[in-house]
Amino acid sequence: MVLDTPGTSLRLAHDVAEREPGPGEVLVDVHACGVCRTDLHIRDGELRADRYPLIPGHQVVGTVLAAGDAAELEPGARIGIPWLGWTDGDCRYCRSGRENLCVGARFTGLDIDGGYATRTTADARYCFPLPAGYGDLEVAPLLCAGLIGHRALGLTGDAERLGLYGFGSSAHIVCQVALHQGRRVFALTRAEDTASQAFARSLGCEWAGDAMGRAPEELDAAIVFAPVGALVPAALRALAPGGVVVCAGIHMSDIPSFPYADLWRERSIRSVANLTRADARELLDLAPRVPVRTHVTAYALERANDALADVRAGRLEGAAVVVTRRTALQ
Ligand SMILES: [Zn+2]
Ligand SMILES: [Zn+2]
Repeated sequence: MVLDTPGTSLRLAHDVAEREPGPGEVLVDVHACGVCRTDLHIRDGELRADRYPLIPGHQVVGTVLAAGDAAELEPGARIGIPWLGWTDGDCRYCRSGRENLCVGARFTGLDIDGGYATRTTADARYCFPLPAGYGDLEVAPLLCAGLIGHRALGLTGDAERLGLYGFGSSAHIVCQVALHQGRRVFALTRAEDTASQAFARSLGCEWAGDAMGRAPEELDAAIVFAPVGALVPAALRALAPGGVVVCAGIHMSDIPSFPYADLWRERSIRSVANLTRADARELLDLAPRVPVRTHVTAYALERANDALADVRAGRLEGAAVVVTRRTALQ
């Protein structure tokens, strides 16, 4: 499924040339690919690529078909391909353990063709073996919703009372990890979205309600997943002194101004960007021990536009996943 121009629907293409895996690369038979809100930002042109057409998708699950020279993965291995597709290994960020901020980073499904496809190629160093207890569909959302969410959760420190603003793919995973760590979790959604609120409570959130209103207690930290700038000052107002608002999305509408008093007393606002390979190893090791159970809605690959529309409208619980195999839909 190809994006020819930002702002248009993806096009089913039968004529995309398959690329031989180069040195260090693997050719991958794609089984499933999770749908991320970032795919919507790419589709809409809020996030621009250097070249079009491109193939989106950065939560790719598949098996290695062939390995190029020096690629340290064997044919037959089931792997995941996440958003971080390549780094230079050499800039000041890479050299200080912050490859998520690499100045030359290339991202899957944006700079490198991604997983809305039957086959793809990837740099083997950025692929991960997947925990055996998960099916292809269930594991796909861990690869971005889970990884970025987990990195955001780490940035909340030891916050006990955690607010999740927007309860979609990422929040439904983070919620389970946070509860496992002994935190108390509050879900904040659009007031009228009672379905998401009920879903959040079913996963163990002790309260779910209107994001623009008041949670029953002050929060020690908030993670904002929804791409709505107005949620940032709302989350800030909900914080206890010393608390942090972590913005987990790659794009957000403008943040309205707010009185300094809301930030005073060592409250802070920060963003989380991308992932490191260490983040990926950490979550993929932790998830089966929680255990994280993902809720997925499957779409045939050629229905990727429907999947994106449903994510945009919030018409599903948990995560959307496109699958290349008919059998996986049954
Ligand atoms: Zn770098
Ligand atoms: Zn993503």
